[in-house]
Amino acid sequence: MLCSGLNIVGFNWISSPAATELESLVIDWMGKLLKLPPSFLFSGNGGGLLHGSTCEAIVCTLAAARDKALKRMGWDKISKLVVYASDQTHATLFKGTKIVGIPSSNIRSLPTSFLSEFSLPPQTLQEAIENDIKSGFYPLFLCATVGTTACGAVDPILELGEIATKYNLWFHIDAAYAGSACICPEFRHYLDGVELADSISMNPHKWLLTNMDCCCLWVKQPHSLINSLASDAEYLRNSASESNNVVDYKDWQIALSRRFKALKLWVVLRRHGLSNIMCHIRSDVNLAKRFESLVGTDKRFEIVVPRSHEIADGVNKSAQAVQAEDSGIRQIGTLARQDTIPMIQEKASLPIISLQPVVAGAAKQTAHAVGQATKTFMNIISRERFHGIYWYTDIVNAFSIICD
Ligand SMILES: *Cc1c(COP(=O)(O)O)cnc(C)c1O
Repeated sequence: MLCSGLNIVGFNWISSPAATELESLVIDWMGKLLKLPPSFLFSGNGGGLLHGSTCEAIVCTLAAARDKALKRMGWDKISKLVVYASDQTHATLFKGTKIVGIPSSNIRSLPTSFLSEFSLPPQTLQEAIENDIKSGFYPLFLCATVGTTACGAVDPILELGEIATKYNLWFHIDAAYAGSACICPEFRHYLDGVELADSISMNPHKWLLTNMDCCCLWVKQPHSLINSLASDAEYLRNSASESNNVVDYKDWQIALSRRFKALKLWVVLRRHGLSNIMCHIRSDVNLAKRFESLVGTDKRFEIVVPRSHEIADGVNKSAQAVQAEDSGIRQIGTLARQDTIPMIQEKASLPIISLQPVVAGAAKQTAHAVGQATKTFMNIISRERFHGIYWYTDIVNAFSIICD
């Protein structure tokens, strides 16, 4: 409301020093909560900003990586650039790659399996890069995920980062959902190795109590982004920009105009404080554990993707894929969507249904509610003769919507 009411359009520093400086401040705060190395912070040598979505963050980093490479290789080599990620990576990367003009056939969607708990095995990446180099391609970009959408898998950041460094790839970490959990010391290790990345993004609008839309992007080399995205029209020139002592966020994003998004993240961080936000994350994790135990004791269901990471339950708490024994398949209203998670499908030999909650982080998440909701949910699934249920994000909200 504040952001809409004030209606500030802070495209560069001079148009709104307050919006610009508060954004630089909160993005550093958020980076410090995640214990990012100073190389990603304004107080170090890097910096960050608030995008609307991970998709925008990825498009911008892909454009920066592309331009850095093509400047050296020549612009006609765009069809040789290769982008790497696991087969669990969010579709955003595929869309972003197409948007920046790299052919879809140059995306290496590397296989994962139960053995690697659906994370990207470093060996697989290394082999793919070697193969591409032999075939005359240019390895450009690696996107690793902390908390995949399908089952909460966490890619091994440190090992992948070492390979990215060896082959000089731009290394991006997509921590859209699970990144929030990393403010808790017990989950921070999922980001070990982040110092090897070039950029990292996470969405406070997913699990950090912030309203849509709010995606943090940090980069080690802001000038790489700026080289790709800067606009330099006569009517935008001003002495502050020319001094090179201010941040002009228009040069870090796709659009020119931008809202005062920093206000809402500032309010969330100030209003709740770190310890309350950590409580909120931990409470969700405990509810997920409880959900897992309830599913585990019900003979009608099988947990197809075990909760192998602590994070998987909190994050994709969600991440429990449960399979009913009955046959037939139907969707639960508009909440459900077909999903294709190859390994889970293979095991279940059936289509998977994914439930997507409408509201994230609602207040009334109690253990009792989870118990009630699980029971109701189990009844609905067997009554409706579902084959496969793939469980996604905020269970209680999904439940309460179904129960309504
Ligand atoms: C939600 C999600 C995205 C997409 O985020 P948008 O902000 O909607 O673009 C990308 N990656 C992961 C891992 C996600 O969980």
